[in-house]
Amino acid sequence: MKLLKILFLLLLGSTFLFSSVNRLKKVDIVKGELRLKFTGTCDKKQIKHFTLSKPYRRVFDLQNTRLSHNGIGKKFNTRVRIAQYKPNTVRIVIPHDKPYSCTPYKPLFTKTLYHIPLPKSSSVLPAKRYKKPKEKLKEKLKKRVKKVYTSRSHKYDLIVIDAGHGGHDSGAIGGGKREKDLVLQIAKRLEKQLKKRGYPVYMTRKKDRFLKLHQRTKIADKKNAVVFISIHANSVPKKKRHKIQGVETFFLQKTRDARSQRIAARENKSVLKGTNKLSRNVILDSVLSGPKIVQSNKLAIDVQRRIMTNLRSRYKGVRDGGVRHAPFWVLVGASRPSILVEVGYISHPKERKRLFTPRYQELIAKGIAEGVDNYLDNRKKEIDF
Ligand SMILES: [Zn+2]
Repeated sequence: MKLLKILFLLLLGSTFLFSSVNRLKKVDIVKGELRLKFTGTCDKKQIKHFTLSKPYRRVFDLQNTRLSHNGIGKKFNTRVRIAQYKPNTVRIVIPHDKPYSCTPYKPLFTKTLYHIPLPKSSSVLPAKRYKKPKEKLKEKLKKRVKKVYTSRSHKYDLIVIDAGHGGHDSGAIGGGKREKDLVLQIAKRLEKQLKKRGYPVYMTRKKDRFLKLHQRTKIADKKNAVVFISIHANSVPKKKRHKIQGVETFFLQKTRDARSQRIAARENKSVLKGTNKLSRNVILDSVLSGPKIVQSNKLAIDVQRRIMTNLRSRYKGVRDGGVRHAPFWVLVGASRPSILVEVGYISHPKERKRLFTPRYQELIAKGIAEGVDNYLDNRKKEIDF
């Protein structure tokens, strides 16, 4: 009997809990406004709104609310994103290319409606155009809206590309070919690939000139870049030159792995002149404690994977050196996700030949660009929902 009573109380409690949660039934865009329709009375106090930047997003958290069904908001594609953010919170995100403020309101005499004015430039297309029934025209408009959105969404994601070495510092040399020339060629191709995807790009060097280490990362800080990519090529001593080849992507971290240490030591040589060991350790320790490592690791995984997919689609026997961590100095001091791509071994005769082929370079550049794209899209999703 006692058990029954408890069960009854539990049941009562749960129905009470359940009924107190409001449900978002329908969302429409009418006259440049987002109209939310709830099943119950909409309480304005339970709707919190704020702005996030890079890119700008107006966020509305509808507390104590659930989505009636998952299809809500799907029709808006990426223009307005709606999701069950927490068990009892629905999140609405309106991306925009600049900050916009709006005054959401509850219309008079209706208890279940809530209106959010949308930013002007992305509001609904002119009514005249919409009314034309011709399918072709509709399709054309659809494509145009999509295009505008994709070119906008990365407008503020500045990428800094750092072609390694330069000037008196040739980097690795193999078969008379120099690392500094190779990485500049690939960096320029990467610049084009990223710009094609709508990213603003800044190159630490566009010519054959030497830059000090701190100048390279300082640029990324000054420009407030979202990602820093340093491009290098690897090499091994003559004895091993036929054995070792492949693509490797590094992010900054102390390591006990002897091979990673050796590669880092070689790349660090020219930039570390004049810095004493104590100050090196101080800088390194301060960077290694930051959360950027996790993000850099994710970026490195995406980039490495896309490079490999691209290269292997056209070339046989490309070795995947994987994602590694090493204390590269060019990555120290970068306060953003930063990676160093070793595009291949300039010491390996066959790989060297490929590395200086435009087609091979293009595939590497495309792979890096796709990796960056992938990483940033995933990060945005993480931040939003
Ligand atoms: Zn290098």
